[in-house]
Amino acid sequence: MEENNKPLVIQIKPEDNVAVAVEDLPAGAPVRPGLETREPVPQAHKVALRNLAKGEAILRYGVVLGYAAQDIPAGSWIHEKLVELPESPGLDHLEWGTHLVPPEQLPEPVRTTWMGYRNASGPAGTRNLLGIVTTVQCAAGVVRAALERIRRELLPRYPFVDGAVAITHPYGCGVAINAPLAEIPIRSVAHIIRHPNFGGEVMVVGLGCEKLTYDRLLPPEEITPDNVLTLQDYPGHDAMMQAILDMAEKKLRRLNGRRREELPLSLLRVGLQCGGSDAFSGVTANPSAGYAADMLVRGGATVLFSEVTEVRDGVPLLAARCVEEKVCRRLAEEMDWYDRYLAEGGVDRDANPTPGNKKGGLANIVEKAMGSIAKSGSSPIVEVIGPGQLPTRSGLIYAATPASDFVCGASQAASGIGLQVFMTGRGTPYGLEVCPVLKVCSRNEMKEHWPDLIDVSAGAIATGEATVAQVGTELFEKILDTASGRYQPCSDRYGFYNDLCFFNPAPIT
Ligand code: CA
Repeated sequence: MEENNKPLVIQIKPEDNVAVAVEDLPAGAPVRPGLETREPVPQAHKVALRNLAKGEAILRYGVVLGYAAQDIPAGSWIHEKLVELPESPGLDHLEWGTHLVPPEQLPEPVRTTWMGYRNASGPAGTRNLLGIVTTVQCAAGVVRAALERIRRELLPRYPFVDGAVAITHPYGCGVAINAPLAEIPIRSVAHIIRHPNFGGEVMVVGLGCEKLTYDRLLPPEEITPDNVLTLQDYPGHDAMMQAILDMAEKKLRRLNGRRREELPLSLLRVGLQCGGSDAFSGVTANPSAGYAADMLVRGGATVLFSEVTEVRDGVPLLAARCVEEKVCRRLAEEMDWYDRYLAEGGVDRDANPTPGNKKGGLANIVEKAMGSIAKSGSSPIVEVIGPGQLPTRSGLIYAATPASDFVCGASQAASGIGLQVFMTGRGTPYGLEVCPVLKVCSRNEMKEHWPDLIDVSAGAIATGEATVAQVGTELFEKILDTASGRYQPCSDRYGFYNDLCFFNPAPIT
């Protein structure tokens, strides 16, 4: 098996006492001189590099993943039942700013401009879309029916508009609208109305009796008959359809005048997340995304990473990268809030890994977190924001959202990302309609299995045929090509779009 000199396992840090199998290994596979596997080890799962006594720390990424639940001889397969979860790191005495990488040590961007749609303010658009946002789910059916007619009857007349999108979320009524936590879904809806891909054209459709009123979403001067439409004001189907089509056409006429122009990276806002991770995600796909993120940040772009439960166990590493005490304090606040949110639900952070994650070799949330954090690269963290909030700074931002793909996607979209990079090990057809999503897989087998659903494979890093820098640079270029409309990601090609599920931790009544 070693005839091509490819390693059978990947060890990350010299102090690690486990390594990850590059492929399915049989019993007796020569992992390294003097060490053979004692039993079959599935691809991406961990092999003990030496004898581990019961209670001894299991180290990967130089970090304690957990403690050996029993004596584990060298060469054993360390499956999740052999790893006992450690305590999560405390939040009270985090040291901030101890590891701030200066910009000149970040990889230099291989390109410094892209082609986007400039907006009056804020980040530029990566697409030119008509966005129709409902205030309440009651209006969703009407808006979706109208959207079909807009696509069929109007869009062909406006060739410079890339498409029309309906944001039909489940929020808006039957909720405790004045509950303090309601600010999260409310600001998410308010911010998605102004998504950079909607070109400043506001189009909001309400029912008329819902709790989420226009004044919670828009300033008074924008609540006009040009921007908002109330279904209960219209006598029946034909009248409301005509009103929506008329409003849409006015917006389309203006959007049709927009053109892409050459723009600096400072007008690009990119989000990162992962889903269906495996033990390779933290070695191949996420570090490549981190490398691309560092290039973007050095070039002046803004990059968001998220997923609270997936960074919780690496919080000291993130605190060390916070540029100010205030940023570190916000990080601790968001983590503390989420700890309590989970505790109220009777669970802890280890509720996160899915059966697929575990099948993919991720023993627990610590191992998943270490891999997940790799996507943030090494740039300093300039700001921490809550779910659906807007960044006020450029650079690397921690946006504290749930890890759920659809909730993280919706929250980052509300925070104004023009593109999302999505890393996957197990594979998902995930896509967003408001902005393009580039999917990066962690293993070559995934790309071979789904050649038309995965945009970039980072698998060559595991087999030693490419470096993180090479795949990261390829990804950086693909991000700019996608943002510039020159590359159409797989999910856009097939129209594979998930619903936007805004985070709502507030009571439903
Ligand atoms: Ca996710």
